[in-house]
This record gives sequence, structure tokens and C-alpha cells, in this order.
Amino acid sequence: MPKKIRNSNCRGCDVPEGALHKPFCTMERCPYCDEQIIGCDCDHSKMTDAERVRWIKYPIRCIRCGAAYPDFFMVSDEEWKWYIAPSERRDILCPDCYKKIRDLQDAYGHKFPNSADVDEEVQKIKKRWKELFGK
Ligand SMILES: [Zn+2]
Ligand SMILES: [Zn+2]
Ligand SMILES: [Zn+2]
Repeated sequence: MPKKIRNSNCRGCDVPEGALHKPFCTMERCPYCDEQIIGCDCDHSKMTDAERVRWIKYPIRCIRCGAAYPDFFMVSDEEWKWYIAPSERRDILCPDCYKKIRDLQDAYGHKFPNSADVDEEVQKIKKRWKELFGK
């Protein structure tokens, strides 16, 4: 049976799916470069509402195992580049798959000096999330 998808409001500005984000919402993407619109360097002076990227909740999946909504974690850019192929660097990996990819390469002597503790990073981000959004 297909899973029923519930509508969910933007967790940044609380608009319903299909609507435009409110000004300065951190969840709004730039239509030109796909980065956060509040952080990118594009010129938005001629941007129309028709061009703006509306809020639709897309499931985030790990590109390796397909797990939906994987826990986020952070590693340094240097470590990420060390282990992850250029074509996959903009994608999402779950912590388990990242550790697996790292272990596979470490086993052949391609070990990054001072690898981050991924579990610790996940916990840190969960804690920060709780502080920000209370869940
Ligand atoms: Zn929003
Ligand atoms: Zn941009
Ligand atoms: Zn995975």
C-alpha cells in the first residue's frame, strides 16, 4: 500500500506546502544555485515570485541505503573530500553508511588523520536541534 504523505508546514516559517516562504526563512532555496537563499551570493534583485522555490517537503534519503530522514552529522570539508567522490559530495549519507565508506577505505590504508567521531556529531546536532525547535 502506498504510504500516505501528510502535508507538513515549513519548519522555518510555518507556511503550508505549495506556498511561498516568509521573508528570511532559512528553508527557502535559491532558484539559481540551490543554496539557502539567505546565504548565497546570487543577485535576486530581478527575481519574481514565480521564480521563487515554494515550500514542498521532499523526503531526504541516504544515497547509499535509501534510509529516509537520516540523522545529520558534520565532518570537516577536508575529511568529506578525502572519503567522498566528487560526484557525491553534495549528497546525503546516513551516519552508518558514512562510517562504512570510511572503514572500507581505512582498511586499504586510506585513513584520514583525526577522523571525526560521527556518533558524537549526531548527538551534538540533535541537542542543538532540540534547543532550536524543542523536538
Ligand atoms: Zn519557510
Ligand atoms: Zn543563489
Ligand atoms: Zn545509509
